[in-house]
Amino acid sequence: MAIDRRTLLHLSLAGGVAGALGLKSAAAAAQQGGGEGVKWIFLGTKGGPRIGTGRSNPANVLLVDGVPFVIDCGYGVARRLVEAKVALPSLRYVFVTHMHSDHVLEFGNMVYGAWSAGLNHPIDAFGPVGLDGLAKAFWQSMKDDIEIRMPDEGKPDPRKFLVVKEITESGPVMATDKVKVTALRTPHPPILERNYAYKFETPKGVIVYVCDSAYNPEIAKFAEGADLLIHEALYVPGVDALAARIKNASTLKEHLLASHTTTEDLGKLAAAAKVKKLVMTHLVPGDIDTITDEMWMQDVRKHYNGSLVVARDLMEVSL
Ligand SMILES: [Zn+2]
Ligand SMILES: [Zn+2]
Repeated sequence: MAIDRRTLLHLSLAGGVAGALGLKSAAAAAQQGGGEGVKWIFLGTKGGPRIGTGRSNPANVLLVDGVPFVIDCGYGVARRLVEAKVALPSLRYVFVTHMHSDHVLEFGNMVYGAWSAGLNHPIDAFGPVGLDGLAKAFWQSMKDDIEIRMPDEGKPDPRKFLVVKEITESGPVMATDKVKVTALRTPHPPILERNYAYKFETPKGVIVYVCDSAYNPEIAKFAEGADLLIHEALYVPGVDALAARIKNASTLKEHLLASHTTTEDLGKLAAAAKVKKLVMTHLVPGDIDTITDEMWMQDVRKHYNGSLVVARDLMEVSL
C-alpha cells in the first residue's frame, strides 16, 4: 500500500505495521460514511486566526463508529475534513468552544459545504451564547445564493437543517446512545462566561478537550483519569517573536499570557489529572518551525511523565 503522511503519523502513534493496517481499513470505511471504533483526527493545530501554509487553524473531528462530531471550526475546517476522508454530507454534530474567530470562522461555510455536497439531515450544533446569532447572520449573507439554488437545483432549504443549541452553564450538553458530552466553563480572559471545555464519554474511553483556556486547576478534576486529554499550549519563549510580527495588535502579548496555558502549567494539569495520554494542540505560536516538538514538551515533562504527543494536522488518535 502507499504510505502517505497520515499513515506515517499513525504508524508513529500506533507503533507498528498492525496500526498502519488498521488505519487503512478505518480510513476506507470513513470515506464511505461508515467505520467502527473511536478516533480523533486533528484538522488544524495552530492557535489563532492567521492563515499560513503550515498548520491550519483550530478544528477537529471525533468519529464514533463513523458518526462525525466536529469540534471547533477554524478557517480551513471543510477542506481538512475532505482531506481526512470525512464526507461533508455525513456531518451530524458540531461543538464550538467559544466565539473567537479561530474557532468559528468557517462554521457557516462548513455547513454550507455539507449542503452543497448533498446534506439531507439535521446538524445539531452546540456552543456558547452567540453561536445562534452567527448562524443567522451566515444564512442572511447567503440568502440570495440559497434562494436561487433551491428551486433551480431542486435542493432542500439548508437553514432548516442547522439546529443551534446554546450552552449557558457547565453540565451535561447532549447524549446519543454511544456518546455523552459534558461542558465545563473555563476562563479565557477577557472571555469569562462564554467559554467551555468538553468531555466526550465514548464506548472506548473518555476524551477531554480544552481549547482555549487560561491555566485552570479545575480542569484536573474535570479530566481526572481521562484516556485522552487534548489541551491548548502556549510556548512562552516564542511569544515575543509572535507579537513582534503582528503590527496592528499592541497588547497581543498581554492577551496571550493572560488567556492561555503555558507548557509548564499544562504539565501540572496533566499530572494532577493522571490522564493516560496528553496531546498538545492549539499551539501558540504554531507557525514558527524552529520550535521543535522537544521544545514544546520539555516544560510539560517537568511534571507529567505519561504518554505525550504534539499534534500535527491530520494526525489520528484511536482509542
Ligand atoms: Zn483559539
Ligand atoms: Zn480563544
